[in-house]
Parts: sequence; structure tokens; C-alpha cells
Amino acid sequence: TARVNVRNFSIIAHVDHGKSTLADRIMERLGAMGERDKRDQTLDTLELERERGITIKSTPVRLTYVRPPQEDGTGGESYTFNLIDTPGHVDFNYEVSRSLAACEGVLLLVDASQGVEAQTIVNAYLAIDSNLEIIPVINKIDLPAADPEGAAQELEDVIGIPAESAVFASGKSGIGITEILEAIVDRIPPPPGDPEAPLKALIFDSFYDAYQGVILFVRVLEGTLTPKQPIMLFNSGKTFDVDKLGTFTPGLIVSDSLPAGAVGWVAAGIKDIHDAQVGDTLTQKDRPTPEPFPGFKPAQPVVFSGLYPTDTEDYRKMRDALEKLKLNDAAFTFEPETSEALGFGFRCGFLGLLHAEIIQERLEREYDLDLIATAPAVVYRISLTNGTIFETQNPAEFPTRDRISATEEPYIKLSIMLPEEHVGPVMQLLQERRGSMITMNYVGKRVELLYEVPFAEILYDFHDRLKSISRGYASMDYEQIGYRDGDLRKVDIMVNNEIVDALAVIVHEDKAYGIGRKIVDKMAEVIPRQMFPVPVQATIGGKIIARATVKAYRKDVLAKCYGGDISRKKKLLNKQKKGRARMKQIGTVEVPQEAFLAVLSTD
Ligand code: GDP
Ligand code: MG
Repeated sequence: TARVNVRNFSIIAHVDHGKSTLADRIMERLGAMGERDKRDQTLDTLELERERGITIKSTPVRLTYVRPPQEDGTGGESYTFNLIDTPGHVDFNYEVSRSLAACEGVLLLVDASQGVEAQTIVNAYLAIDSNLEIIPVINKIDLPAADPEGAAQELEDVIGIPAESAVFASGKSGIGITEILEAIVDRIPPPPGDPEAPLKALIFDSFYDAYQGVILFVRVLEGTLTPKQPIMLFNSGKTFDVDKLGTFTPGLIVSDSLPAGAVGWVAAGIKDIHDAQVGDTLTQKDRPTPEPFPGFKPAQPVVFSGLYPTDTEDYRKMRDALEKLKLNDAAFTFEPETSEALGFGFRCGFLGLLHAEIIQERLEREYDLDLIATAPAVVYRISLTNGTIFETQNPAEFPTRDRISATEEPYIKLSIMLPEEHVGPVMQLLQERRGSMITMNYVGKRVELLYEVPFAEILYDFHDRLKSISRGYASMDYEQIGYRDGDLRKVDIMVNNEIVDALAVIVHEDKAYGIGRKIVDKMAEVIPRQMFPVPVQATIGGKIIARATVKAYRKDVLAKCYGGDISRKKKLLNKQKKGRARMKQIGTVEVPQEAFLAVLSTD
């Protein structure tokens, strides 16, 4: 197919506005549905992500569209569509912008019953910043509560996309699919680029295959990729020889070249994903492109936590697992860490809490490990009285008060969309979280709130609280905006009069007492009773700020079961046995996983 008949596009939307459903409907219409079911093995590694019902990795698919006969006598032309799916969660915004760099246009979906939401705006701006053609699609118009004209007007008011350019559709019932396909052909430009120029290809995704090594997902911008070609990664400077290449159906199909404009995959015997990071430019070794694709920035972890095997014997196994996992996920980092309480483990860095959960789940499922995770933390900046400035996310590295001259914490710009009637309670919540308002805009009957908030304040339960006080109507998104002054304290936790290093947290002074209280109360609740009462205390610089007691064990708890229902007793014992896997013996006290995450518990 000539380049003029190629269309590279993505579908972007707020979560649940119908991206996947519309993508499936388009694929079904273009006869690719069967292919998705018999997904290639190599793509199956992402099973966990699929199970969770969220898209993490962008999975491209190549489709063929033959225009039906038109009223003006045209029709019958054949087009190649490369549809690049994008992840919706804010942890993976990085992936979205890379995917968009492989496209000339997007379908921007808006649920006609919900209107414009926080991620609609963020995603629309990502597309605008990448100079993409935006086709607004007002989706789910089959719903009784749909207000298509209202939603289109909101898009115009908020983002400036003309309301009359919107296509009304329903991914579910198939309304508007023909119009969408025609709009893709008419409005999205074919990819530019000269197939004879020096090779320049953007790596927009990758994954690790046990047999072929790293598989790169590329968008060829200039030149032509062919098998056997010597290639070079622009930023890492590493060179390789192309082994195989091809396109996606979405399974991997081998082909003999990828010319400018093409979206496809390349295998070149790359064994370490860090040699070929997402965002890097791939070029020809002997004839390099003069300039790489701009803005290469490796993904930076922003949330850190300690991960420890519950069984100390598993340390090596865990290191192996982490190394394998890192081959698959360049955004995740780890380094060895020792804790007095937990022994040998690793300090791990993630793109966000969801990313952290996914990594932990993969370690446990795919590598059969039992882990204890310590409370997630953000990266703080600390200036010492001796003039040194350093960054740390690790409470163990937090200096004593007398050595600190200033502390700073990371901030985000938070955008929240919500119906007017919930503005009061949401503003109150933001105030509790030490937020300060930047602006407040009215969008029809809804409001967009823009705030600056310390990142640590939204890390734990913010999203849940926001959803509950807005009855599910508020949506949010955020971006990191750098550091601001904040008076930080390290809260230590003592169990049975001994400091348990792995339980320490760094918090803002205003929150120290509340958080200390919350942690000790939660711990007193989850630590199993002992033969004697166990004191749990929170301290700052040796001063006790909160205390609670794990009450002594009452001997008659099990006794009650004797002579009674035997299955009930079994159940009780089983329950204890199961719980045991995720406990750590600290002195004479067994501390369960929940205690380490007490700071995350919702009150
Ligand atoms: P995504 O998160 O943007 O990928 O959204 P999904 O495609 O997973 O859809 C989210 C929910 O909306 C699912 O329950 C779908 O069945 C539903 N949905 C998607 N498209 C439509 C539509 O056109 N009409 C209706 N009524 N429901 C839809
Ligand atoms: Mg989806």
C-alpha cells in the first residue's frame, strides 16, 4: 500500500468512555476480530493487565479498510489503518504520549451521558501538543441519559474543538462507525517521511520475549527498515543487526520491510530492555539520521517502597525475579536494602501506586514469592546544615532534626472535573490535603478545579475519598510540577518498646500527629493478641506522639470451639495459617502485612 493510503491513529478518552468497545467494533467491522481472539503468544504476557480490565501497554493493530461505494462515484480504494490503543490511567501517561508520537490523528471519545472529564482534557492536550488531527467522537449516544449536543458543546467550550466537527456514535450498538471510518480517511493526513532518507524510527513501546529478546514497537519516520540492516540506538549508542520485523494483527506478523510511515515491530537480538528504551530513536549504523526524535526522557519512578520476601530464604529468588521483570519494564527500578526488622530486601521505584501494585502482584503470581511491602513514599529533598542537598524517599535515610536546614516535597497540579453541587465538600477535602487553588472554571453545569497539592497527599486514599464525596461524579488527573518547601518529620513506630525501622514514615508536620495516631490504632487492631499486652507507640525524635495497646490474648477464644463445631475450629486455625505467610516476627511479636501499610488504611 502506498504511503498516501496509510492512516496512523489512536483512540483517547477518559477511562470508561468506551475506547476498548469502539476499538473492538472498528476491528470487527474491518474483519480483524478473529485475530484478536487468537492473540499471538508473545502478546499474552500482558494477561494480568487484561484481567484487571485496564490497558497498560499500548497494543497496535493493523487493519485494512476498503471504502464502500460513495454517492460521488468514488469508493473501492484500500487503506491501511494502524490503530494504536493507549492506556488510560495517569500512571501511564508517559506511554500515552509515546503512542501519540506514532500517530497523525486521534479519535477523542466523550461519553454522551457524562460529558468532558478530567482525562478527556489532559488527553486532548497531549494530542494538541503532538500536532495531531483530532476527530471528536461523542460516544454512547444509545444511552437514554445521552446528551450528544451538550457533550459536543462542552468540548468546544473547554478545549476549543468545534462542536460541529463531532461524530455521534455508539461503540456498543454500532451507530456512527461508517462515519468514523470515513472521517479517519478524510481528516487524518497520511504519514509524512521519505523512504529513501536515512533511517529514523521512534521506539514507542517494547516488551521482552524469552526467545527473540527485546521486541521494539516502532514508528518509522524516515527511511526504510529491512532485515539484516545494522542499526543504532541514538541515545544509548548501542548497535545491533535487525533480525526480523513486521506488523501487528495484533499478533506479530513477519514482513520484509517497514518504510517511512509504517508502524511495526523489530527484533534485533537485544537482550536488555535498557539498551533500547521507549522514546529513543532507532537509526542506521552507517548512515545515521542527523537528528533524533525530540524529547527523549526515560520514565522516572516517583513512588518508592520496600519489598521483602516473607521467607528470608527467598532473597536470591526474588533478586532473579526482579531482574527478569526489569527486562520487561524499564520504568521500574530496584536496589538492595536491609532492614533490621525485615532482613534483606529491595527498595523499589514505580510510576505510581497502580504500577507498584501490578509489579508486586506479578512477583507473587509469576514468580511464586510471598512479599511484605512497606508504605509507599514519594521523593523528598533535604538540605543539610553543612550545605549538602540530597533527595531521598527512604525514611531510613532521613537525618536527625539538628542536621537539617530545610526540607522540600514534590507537588502536583491536580485537575478535577465535577458537578457544581459537590464543589463545597471537594474544596474542603483539598484543603485538608494542603492544596491551594489555582483556578476554578465553569463548564456548563460542571466545574473544573485546578489545584496545587503535595503529591504525598493524594498518594493513598485521595481518589477513593474524592469518588465517595462526589458520589462517583468527580474525575481527576495530575502532573508533577516540582518541589515546594514543606516542614517534614520522620515518624518512628515502636512495637513492644523497640523501634521497627521498616514501619517509619516521612510526613508533613501538620499531619504527623494524625498519621501517628492512625498507624498505632490500626496496628493495635491487626497485630494478633499475645500472652501479654503489647504497647505500640509513634514517636518523633524520641518523643511519643501517640500510643495504643495490643490487648493480651484471652485463653478462652479457642476453648469455646472445643466440643462445639469442629469445622468452625478448623476454619479458625486455617485462617491463622493463611495469615501467617504474610507476617514478620519482630522480637516476640508477629506483625502482619496490614500493619506495614497501616498508613494507607482509610479512616
Ligand atoms: P474504556 O475504559 O474507555 O476502554 O471503556 P470500555 O470500552 O471498557 O467501556 C466502558 C463501559 O462502557 C463498558 O461497560 C461498556 O460496555 C460500556 N460502553 C462502551 N461503549 C458503549 C456504548 O456505545 N453504549 C453504551 N450504552 N455503553 C457502552
Ligand atoms: Mg479500555
